[in-house]
Amino acid sequence: MADTPDPKTELDRALAGDVRALARLLSLVEDDSPRMREVVRDLLPKTGQARIIGLTGAPGVGKSTMTGALIAAERAAGRRVAVLAVDPTSPFTGGALLGDRIRMQEHATDEAVFIRSMASRGHLGGLAAATPQAIRVLDAAGFELIIIETVGVGQAEVAIASLADSVAVLLAPGMGDAIQAAKAGILEVADLFVVNKADKPDAQQVVRDLRNMLALGTAEKGWKAPIITTTATTGEGIAELVTRLDDHWAWLRESGELQRRRRARAREEITALAFAALRDHMDNRVDELAARVADGTLDPFEAADEILARH
Ligand code: GDP
Repeated sequence: MADTPDPKTELDRALAGDVRALARLLSLVEDDSPRMREVVRDLLPKTGQARIIGLTGAPGVGKSTMTGALIAAERAAGRRVAVLAVDPTSPFTGGALLGDRIRMQEHATDEAVFIRSMASRGHLGGLAAATPQAIRVLDAAGFELIIIETVGVGQAEVAIASLADSVAVLLAPGMGDAIQAAKAGILEVADLFVVNKADKPDAQQVVRDLRNMLALGTAEKGWKAPIITTTATTGEGIAELVTRLDDHWAWLRESGELQRRRRARAREEITALAFAALRDHMDNRVDELAARVADGTLDPFEAADEILARH
């Protein structure tokens, strides 16, 4: 790392459109570098402008095809788009995964499009902590739209998708159906449902199942998640998806929900950081205190107080 320019220089370069500097900054935050703190502090005043869209769904539903189609639509509207493809289950990282995907190659030479893969490398907590920082980097670098694509339909994916302002859940006939989504707790976090592969005969059945399931729940948020059908491979329905996402964005801003969500996320982030710091600190102290509690020379309440007081 000795020959790596300092984060401020990298940041200036990234803000000026240097894609490699941007990639290096993202590596800093992904690797949980000691310089991450500095990077985040420096770029914070430049953040808060981007709109963050989460795209989640089971493997094979068509997320990357959809992302490619969305990029094309947003580029046509003149927006700069960044994609963070987050795979909590994959040990790979560094941009190779998604960059290799043929469907997105058409955007590979477009400087207003930036695509990056992030993976957990076996440590989900690290990924959860790094993703908000990666979003900040992209936001500060001037991307108006940031798409977070998560693979899968488990709790971790839901948590990461929830970092977005708008969460779109993709379903498709035969895979990632409505029942699966319900089990994973995804119906609750969805702002939009996209039933992809509408060219397949079973697509309308997925829509019906979804409607039935949504009817069972309570819509207390003031926003009723629409169900859109798309054929990502042909682009059918993508214009409607863009419109609905725009509608949701307008609603978020007008209702005050955007501010509420962003504050809730900040709260989660602070809590996670504080707990992680406390845990590290405890690891250093707890053995000694535990020995005294076990010996009967210190009560456990005092031991806990001591950890908190000295933190
Ligand atoms: P991901 O794993 O969710 O990212 O899914 P992909 O985008 O890789 O798509 C999985 C497969 O489904 C690919 O072979 C796509 O060409 C295909 N696919 C994606 N969208 C559609 C669609 O709307 N209709 C049909 N018939 N196939 C699709």
